[in-house]
Amino acid sequence: LPVRETVTPLALPPGVDLAAFNTFIRAVTDIVGADNVRVITSLDQIDDGSYEAPTHTHDPHHIVDQDYFMASAVVAPRNVADVQAIVKLANPLSLPLWPISIGRNSGYGGAGPRVRGSLVLNMGQNMNKILEVNVEGAYCLVEPGVTFMDMHEYLVKNNLRDKLWIDVPDLGGGSILGNTLERGVGYTPYGDHFMMHSGMEIVLPNGELMRTGMGALPDPRKPETMGLKPEDQPWNSSAQLFPYGFGPYVDGLFTQSNLGICTKMGMWLFPNPGGYQSYLVTIPRDEDLKLAVDIIRPLRLAMVLQNVPTIRHITMDAAVMAPKSAYTNDTDKVLGDEELDAIAEKLNLGRWNFYGAIYGPEPVRQALWGAIQGAFSAIPGAKFFLKDDTPEGSVLRIRDLTMQGIPTFDELRWVSWLPNGAHLFFSPIAPVQGEDAMAQYEITRRRCEEAKLDFIGTFTIGMREMHHIVCIVFNKRDEDQKRRAHWLIRTLIDDCAARGWGEYRTHLAVMDQIMGTYNWNNGSFLRFNELIKNAVDPNGIMAPGKSGVWPKQYKKEEHVL
Ligand code: ADP
Repeated sequence: LPVRETVTPLALPPGVDLAAFNTFIRAVTDIVGADNVRVITSLDQIDDGSYEAPTHTHDPHHIVDQDYFMASAVVAPRNVADVQAIVKLANPLSLPLWPISIGRNSGYGGAGPRVRGSLVLNMGQNMNKILEVNVEGAYCLVEPGVTFMDMHEYLVKNNLRDKLWIDVPDLGGGSILGNTLERGVGYTPYGDHFMMHSGMEIVLPNGELMRTGMGALPDPRKPETMGLKPEDQPWNSSAQLFPYGFGPYVDGLFTQSNLGICTKMGMWLFPNPGGYQSYLVTIPRDEDLKLAVDIIRPLRLAMVLQNVPTIRHITMDAAVMAPKSAYTNDTDKVLGDEELDAIAEKLNLGRWNFYGAIYGPEPVRQALWGAIQGAFSAIPGAKFFLKDDTPEGSVLRIRDLTMQGIPTFDELRWVSWLPNGAHLFFSPIAPVQGEDAMAQYEITRRRCEEAKLDFIGTFTIGMREMHHIVCIVFNKRDEDQKRRAHWLIRTLIDDCAARGWGEYRTHLAVMDQIMGTYNWNNGSFLRFNELIKNAVDPNGIMAPGKSGVWPKQYKKEEHVL
């Protein structure tokens, strides 16, 4: 055997010395093969990459030092058995693992681990198969590396688009499974991804493999499947049709959490509705956000609004169309109301722009479109547009694709609003109430202005709440701007918590702060999560610190930013 040299990672996992790390990495290499192991030994190995070629070593939208949320090594298991073997090796060392599927997770930390020096497990690189697309049941079963784009292309290639669509988020490059574990959203009627999943396969921290829901009930034994390893056995025929199974429903425990590594997931596909029409309603005045939201609530509740529609601020659409420098000479100055009005006029848009879609055969669409137009006509100056009424490259033309499950990459452009643009999402939840929307807009815009950053935001309307997505765009080569962006999100978290608004998901840098705001009755929620964490993962190997849940091996104070 060749003598292998000692490798020295830039960041060792906490509590693991160089010799132990090397022994571990050699053992891991023996399992997965050298091609699937990369130790990060020098700073030039951490390139921010791009959306097209995402990095797996760190957060490319770094709000703190580029090498703070950084891996010691990136390992890509080839199959379930590899994952189980790695987990077993990590336990005796209490070595932190950080599973990712694709690692884009843009605006929430990318592939970067919460604890510097964690071993990033790139689940998607080799485990990227579409295991099943079931037309009658309208579902799919996927491995971690299957992206929204992959699934869409599969449906197109197999002439299935006339039967099934996949709900997609703003960008098509994320993992279906990874996005669902983060409780991400899309914009068709199936926009709530976690609601639409059915059945998970999980490697637990002790290396055991579990299937949830109906997946816990074995498929009847047949001669041809008798000898198969558990991970290769067919699923129960109802596993992708009924998510709950029997007994405690544990799937939620594996979302935004650190209790296991997901290796397969079932996902419902949206049956082609037999007709489709996207539309835009422009709302000229800032303050009519209130009226718009109060119009939307009953329509959405009654499912007259069938999909997850969005109310986008003019800066967001402007930023998709062109960088800030195209609208102003002074890019350091925050755009004021007059400038925003001028931009809206130039783009033939409103201060707020409502994007939705109608699904079904022509008579159904006509009826719904009539009701929608009637309701929104109460807003002074509101105008209605269909796709063909807008110019090439319009945001409606992009949303037209997204809302029918055709993934795009155009929304990436708003990140380039500023030079060296990077971004951070601030995403509080609120009731679908005009007053909440106005108050959230007022606070977030004012704080953005204090940070000398433009407010770029959109309200996405779920079944009964709004995810307000504030896109904090900053120049990542400008240390002062980075500090301001970080100050902004920290300040907004507290401002919003004081009003009863909490975030649905967040970046690594503020997970502890946000968990700290979910502190009803003396923090019983976090303490319960810690109890589960320490029971299920006694050596604290699985994504320590994720969502502010730390295992007992870690002193939280040493890690909180
Ligand atoms: P994206 O799909 O946007 O590229 P990631 O693959 O980075 O997103 O996944 C987002 C987050 O979801 C990760 O940071 C991790 O916390 C969690 N995650 C992703 N894949 C897995 C997995 N297979 N098992 C457990 N957690 C995962």
